[in-house]
Amino acid sequence: TINILALDSSGELVVGVSTSGYPWKYPGRVGDSALPGAGNYADVRYGGAACTGRGELSMRALGARGIVADLARGLDPSEACLAMLADAATLPDEYRAELRCLALTPDGRHGAAAGQTGSVYVVMTESSTEPEFHPRSML
Ligand code: ASP
Repeated sequence: TINILALDSSGELVVGVSTSGYPWKYPGRVGDSALPGAGNYADVRYGGAACTGRGELSMRALGARGIVADLARGLDPSEACLAMLADAATLPDEYRAELRCLALTPDGRHGAAAGQTGSVYVVMTESSTEPEFHPRSML
């Protein structure tokens, strides 16, 4: 899954998610990527968020919507991502599944979180000559 959050100079903010779904998924499964609120969500007032990993978790937690709701309450993007992962971690989960997420605010603040070490996200701005790699906050 690829998560993209984009913000333009007029303040337009969008989220895009592309996925092949989960390996060995059962026929007919619709993952979180296609579901606003679960794998993707954007509200131009507060920001956008997106998730990768075991979609069943972000579908049950409404992960992306939860992150944006926390942005609206004033959490910064990393805090909002960590809060969502902490909540999702309390769901019953027979797979011991992993979830990753990222968020962007209308004023350009960004952050991300994951449940495993070594996970990064990439930022590019108007002045970037190369992608900047940022570590995700660890749950
Ligand atoms: N979230 C996707 C899904 O559950 C899988 C992925 O992120 O790789 O369909």
